[in-house]
Amino acid sequence: MKVIAIGRNYAAHAKELNNPLPSSPVIFLKPDTAVLKDNRPFYIPDFSSDIHYELEVVLKVCKEGKHIAEKFASSYFDEVGLGIDFTARDIQSIHKEKGLPWELAKAFDNSAAISHFIPKDKIEDLNNLQFELKINGETRQNGNTKNILFSFEKIISFVSQYITLKKGDLIFTGTPEGVGKVNQGDKLEAWIGEEQFLNFDIK
Ligand code: MG
Repeated sequence: MKVIAIGRNYAAHAKELNNPLPSSPVIFLKPDTAVLKDNRPFYIPDFSSDIHYELEVVLKVCKEGKHIAEKFASSYFDEVGLGIDFTARDIQSIHKEKGLPWELAKAFDNSAAISHFIPKDKIEDLNNLQFELKINGETRQNGNTKNILFSFEKIISFVSQYITLKKGDLIFTGTPEGVGKVNQGDKLEAWIGEEQFLNFDIK
């Protein structure tokens, strides 16, 4: 499986990092070795002194597809969860300045923390999904999918023009504003509505 991630999909987040709003989805990949599951702790790697959290809604792909039309795209994912797109912001800033790819900042081991998943049918309105990240009990990100620039269907359609989607692939759909640094000893907890999806420690 692979992890496909969308950058700059919430205007307020693009703005907080001084990035322009994209006219088509910004995408990058993480390998399967990036996945961190079951609320295992995240260990801050030696190569960065500025690891950021980015809470994101994550879609699980349920069948193979390429060149998917937007009107059929919703049938290509059947489960939804939350994830943290851990980002080495210091490395990313250097690579952005030099116009280099982001992999070292985005695709390192354990950089894609994921929750359990629930059937999307259990969610009342995917386009009005409130999700929240607390660190040490304090709210840091409070997002709503109604604010995304590119819909889930648009993302799936766009990505599948270039990259075949396979069953089990995960799509990180972008983070709302409020990103920041994690520190040793932090506890990260995340919710969709009232249901807790993530609860793990930074070590
Ligand atoms: Mg992200």
